[in-house]
Amino acid sequence: MYQSSKPGGDSPVSIIGAGIAGAWQALLFAQAGHAVTLHERSDAAMTESTSHWAGGMLAPWCEAETSEPVITRLGVRSLALWREQLPQTPFNGSLVVAHARDRADFERFAKLTSGHRRLDARALGDLEPSLEGRFRDGLFYAGEGHVEPRLVLPQLHARIAAAGGRIEFNSGADAGDLDGIVIDCRGLAARDTQPELRGVKGEMIIVETSEVELLRPVRLIHPRWPLYVIPRGDGRFMLGATSIEAEDSGVSVRSALELLGAAYAVHPAFAEARIVEFGSGLRPAFPDNLPRIAIDNDRIAVNGLYRHGFLLAPALAELTLGYVARGVIDNEVMQCA
Ligand SMILES: Cc1cc2nc3c(=O)[nH]c(=O)nc-3n(C[C@H](O)[C@H](O)[C@H](O)COP(=O)(O)OP(=O)(O)OC[C@H]3O[C@@H](n4cnc5c(N)ncnc54)[C@H](O)[C@@H]3O)c2cc1C
Repeated sequence: MYQSSKPGGDSPVSIIGAGIAGAWQALLFAQAGHAVTLHERSDAAMTESTSHWAGGMLAPWCEAETSEPVITRLGVRSLALWREQLPQTPFNGSLVVAHARDRADFERFAKLTSGHRRLDARALGDLEPSLEGRFRDGLFYAGEGHVEPRLVLPQLHARIAAAGGRIEFNSGADAGDLDGIVIDCRGLAARDTQPELRGVKGEMIIVETSEVELLRPVRLIHPRWPLYVIPRGDGRFMLGATSIEAEDSGVSVRSALELLGAAYAVHPAFAEARIVEFGSGLRPAFPDNLPRIAIDNDRIAVNGLYRHGFLLAPALAELTLGYVARGVIDNEVMQCA
């Protein structure tokens, strides 16, 4: 990190895009005393955002299996910011389990990640009674958390308003028309100015059953994708998520079979669950799959959150604010024109 001479301590700030990236930017800037306007093209239901479809896992240690250390660094910082801003965020940890045939992949996952404790079958059953007798052992990442995106986005929007920020839904904005500092958080729609962005499709299914109870996300080791079951309350569970280099929408039969199969492998009672919803979102990603804060004077773009939007958005907002307030540059994520 280093300090540069930069921008405007109390300038007005316009943020485009009220997904998880833009919501956190708006919140921290409003709380720091800036006059903030947050523009969002969709209505408050946020169905045009990728964030609407996410799992909401805050899992910096599990994600280290496939991610660069910068993701863990920013993710761990974000956990503290989530706790600070939304103290009701559940921090029940997360579990990783595997069936016997995927034993080698399970051991590899354990080696590539830290922050976990190995549980034997009994300890696993004590932690998640629904899983009693189902797995020989598991990895418990006690420090991790999860949020429900469709609840947490409106909560963040309410906190922005409480901090004096203005949110304009159904308001498609163009950075060229806005004065002051502009923070572009349009996700994949920012391809007009950041053409190297691509969409990585993630499919998910929501099911409902009263036969299974879980307190935390459970990841099932799978040779291709990290498949998981996330409890959403009221007997609902999100099954996610594929990761496909494609930009179409909807859920393929093959993906549905894999997601539903993973749930069944976690607990056979999912076979009788009711399917509530199929859906998919496009994760905005740069070629290196790392997030970027691109700075060109008072135009700032925060993008490329890929599969870590909920995990990284708080720390990225804190870094952007640190730059605007004090000129602090984080070399790993910031690019200055
Ligand atoms: C199935 C799935 C599971 C996932 N699970 C996780 C997870 O467990 N944990 C995690 O951390 N991440 C997860 N992710 C990744 C996460 O969802 C993304 O990284 C994140 O949503 C990206 O957020 P964003 O704010 O950059 O983009 P978006 O959420 O897409 O927000 C951009 C917003 O900008 C708005 N917009 C665009 N153009 C304009 C305009 N001109 N004017 C006004 N508004 C505009 C859009 O309507 C949109 O609301 C998952 C993703 C998927 C698809």
